Amino acid sequence: MTVAAPLVPTPRPVLRERGQREVFCGLTGIVWLHRKMPDAFFLVVGSRTCAHLLQSAAGVMIFAEPRFATAIMEEKDLAGLADMNDELDAVVTRLLDRRPGIRTLFLVGSCPSEVIKLDLPRAAQRLQAQRSGIRILSYSGSGIETTFTEGEDACLAALARSAPGTPAGTDAALIPELLVVGALPDIVEDQFERLFADMGLPVRFFPGRSSTDLPAIGPNTRFLLAQPFLGETAGVFEDRGAVRISAPFPFGAEGTTAWLEAAADAFAIDPLTFRRAIAPGRERAKRALERHREQLAGKRIFFMPDSQLELPLARFLATECGAELVEVGTPYLHARHLAPELALLGDDVVISEGQDVERQLDRVRAARPDLTVCGLGLANPLEAEGLSTKWAIELVFTPIHGFEQAGDLAELFARPLRRRDMLRI
Ligand code: SF4
Repeated sequence: MTVAAPLVPTPRPVLRERGQREVFCGLTGIVWLHRKMPDAFFLVVGSRTCAHLLQSAAGVMIFAEPRFATAIMEEKDLAGLADMNDELDAVVTRLLDRRPGIRTLFLVGSCPSEVIKLDLPRAAQRLQAQRSGIRILSYSGSGIETTFTEGEDACLAALARSAPGTPAGTDAALIPELLVVGALPDIVEDQFERLFADMGLPVRFFPGRSSTDLPAIGPNTRFLLAQPFLGETAGVFEDRGAVRISAPFPFGAEGTTAWLEAAADAFAIDPLTFRRAIAPGRERAKRALERHREQLAGKRIFFMPDSQLELPLARFLATECGAELVEVGTPYLHARHLAPELALLGDDVVISEGQDVERQLDRVRAARPDLTVCGLGLANPLEAEGLSTKWAIELVFTPIHGFEQAGDLAELFARPLRRRDMLRI
């Protein structure tokens, strides 16, 4: 049996909250993006706070040439006593002269650069005009504008804008091409590539393993989102005439089946070929999940808004592991992209969008769920109150997509529950 998902959004009540938020900013995305594109460099134009965040989130890369840095804005910059553009040009020139291997430079905006209205898109254009053989782009990772995973969205949108279009009137413009969009660990990308190859379906990934390996994007592009937080990137693709394949996200045995099936249907792959290609992986995923179902079945789970992965993960826990969802919070609900997920969640599940952290914590305390999935800053206080927690950030840093990772994904939720049970004995 596969998950059947309607392609149109299903209207349902959503609790919308605006208040104090407890999430990382979009700079955090650099931690996984710099690993995905080793020939790219991320230059944050920010403060010492930004530098500390990156350093502690990414750790110190011993024995490796760093692929990110912070151009620190000093008081004289913020007070307008120095020409920030001249200073930025000098920093970039020094960096590129010293590191000729950089193929794409991202100038990454932060809260301070936004507050003083430093025009990074224009700076990128100016610097690009002085350099050939390197692409210079900009995006914002500021905490004023973005949460956590939106940094990846802003980065990929900038990259997509710089990708070539499909040449009109050529054969290439007529032949549909499948593109998986969203940064995936290489190991997961390889697994998906093999599954698509077994169906006879060529696929490319965006971003690729090199920042210069950009696909042509045009009306022949059929794209499948691998992550639910890529609203701006999907918009850039659609503006070029590319067509999004609507599907649940590839978490768990059924979610992965439905995601692959949506692509197979879009390319008219024979159902028998499709089933043959996915059967072994799907069976392995189901067997891996069995081990954790006993631990997760009937457990009451509360998702605080953090990464925008909350809805697909909640659906996975409810439909494949038998968990009960108390509330599923998400920083932003992209109704069109998440329509297949919403259709699979029970009507009784409370969904909230945005955050008013104190009110949400009140609801957590009142419900006393078995497990609360939340940011690092909230986990310790809740643990001190006797509530088990799961750090949401782990779900972004760990490979969790696809059949082979389904068991690991369930394990990430089952482990804190097991630890709680052991402490109670
Ligand atoms: Fe803090 Fe803003 Fe810098 Fe992020 S971008 S580290 S929120 S100052």
